[in-house]
Amino acid sequence: MKISARLLTSLLLLTAITRADYDLLIKNGRVFTGASVNAPLVTADIGITGDRIVALAPHLTEPAQRTINAAGLVVSPGFIDLHAHIENLPEDRAAQSALRQGVTLVLGNPDGGGPADLKALTTKLETAGGFGPNAAYLIGHNSVRTQIMGMENRAPTADELQAMAALVATAMGDGAFGLSTGLLYLPGTFSNFDEVVALAKVAGRLGGIYTSHLRKEGLGLIDGVEEAIKIGEQAKIPVILTHHKAVGTKMWGASEKTLALVDTARARGIDVMMDQYPYTATSTSLRVLIPSWAVAGYANGISSHFAARLKDPAQRAKIEGEIAFNILNDRGGGDLSRIQFSRFGWKPELAGKTMRDWALAEDREPTVPTGVDLVIQGELHGGATCIYHVLAEEDVERIMRHPQTMIASDGRLSQPGKDHPHPRAYGTFPRVLGEYVRERKTITLEQALFKMTGQPAQRLGLTDRGFIAIGAFADLVLLDPATVAAKSTFEDPHHYPVGIPFVIVNGRLAYDETGYHDIRAGRILHGPSYTIVTPQPAAEAPEKISDR
Ligand SMILES: [Zn+2]
Repeated sequence: MKISARLLTSLLLLTAITRADYDLLIKNGRVFTGASVNAPLVTADIGITGDRIVALAPHLTEPAQRTINAAGLVVSPGFIDLHAHIENLPEDRAAQSALRQGVTLVLGNPDGGGPADLKALTTKLETAGGFGPNAAYLIGHNSVRTQIMGMENRAPTADELQAMAALVATAMGDGAFGLSTGLLYLPGTFSNFDEVVALAKVAGRLGGIYTSHLRKEGLGLIDGVEEAIKIGEQAKIPVILTHHKAVGTKMWGASEKTLALVDTARARGIDVMMDQYPYTATSTSLRVLIPSWAVAGYANGISSHFAARLKDPAQRAKIEGEIAFNILNDRGGGDLSRIQFSRFGWKPELAGKTMRDWALAEDREPTVPTGVDLVIQGELHGGATCIYHVLAEEDVERIMRHPQTMIASDGRLSQPGKDHPHPRAYGTFPRVLGEYVRERKTITLEQALFKMTGQPAQRLGLTDRGFIAIGAFADLVLLDPATVAAKSTFEDPHHYPVGIPFVIVNGRLAYDETGYHDIRAGRILHGPSYTIVTPQPAAEAPEKISDR
């Protein structure tokens, strides 16, 4: 009896010592809740149990398994990246280049791309080993069109349009958050306004958003913006003008006009927003300099059609003329040194170097005609990804200041030493906080954080992520506003940011003072029309779930 009582006492004592109200307690931080742009920073403690925030108040005293002293730090909801090139997430599951910026949710399949079969993609991610950040997906128009029409340069037949609409509807049921288009790219560039409206209607009816890589971002920018707004109006779907910018020296300053178009449309009740990366260079394929009609017929990146058209002198002259025009007026920026190679399979040694460097290395004058020839040679040898230094700082700042602009990276998941990525892959979010908030004072810290958290969460219809509140998922980032900065540059991109000492995904520390932890706590988030088809009994209707 005596022994039992003693045993009981020690057991009770042990329980008292190890009993913890929270798995994680974050103390003394200045909390930005994400609820609105005007939410002031308030000093408060945050208690986390499992994957949720369970307490939010000053001076929480209950015991915790682990306590972080966040004095001097800002505690924000984890950042949401609305334009994330996570096509390689199945290979780069850690996704450190996103996580270490504080990004806890990535929205994939932008620009009309990514796999059309979302169910296969998300099942693969969920069943084999996990992944770092939470992931959500759009359904890409280019993928849908390719599946039904290949690379045909024409409008769809009624049957083809119906088949594309069915694919969009299926993807929405599989959890897509909306439709993305890349109207500058193949084969989206072959689609007309009515086709996009028809597909956007399907996504809109099912609660989705429409995010548009505009048909033109250079000389045709105004037309591109007007088209996207009109698509939103006719399809009755919220629109995001993604990675909004004005490309090419001739268009610098045009953001004044595009933002006015957005304001006018919003005043008419059309729901238009934007996202943006904080850099004066874009990154996309080399092929963007080639007229799309010349590369029609592409399959798997190899165009025998392009080579054949070049053999015809009349067609070749036309192709060369249009490439020269694009180098002078559009993404080429009128100067071969503005075109920098990011990934170039044929000449990997040129990664980081410019088109001018390539010309000089071949003892050629770095002129536009030389550039035309190199573009053609590069494309015939498998193409390349380039960084185009063709944006004006003035436009970047003006777009950033607009209250309807959110922050998004357009970055590809990157790993140190691989290729020569645009620095946005590592630095988008910290660069906004360090360069544009602290140094230039373009926007306030609260404005910046809202553009990265609550605002995109609201856009996606999320109520339990993007905010710090009791019951919300514990996706959090702790940052030091005095030191947060991007370290990735155009010359030397493979650097993680500084001033972001803690990143938490679903209640688990993905990054802390001891470094990165490969916990892969990310989850697939499902969009507004996600349905689980219950296998038994057959007659039962699909169950709708509200958790996304
Ligand atoms: Zn993109």
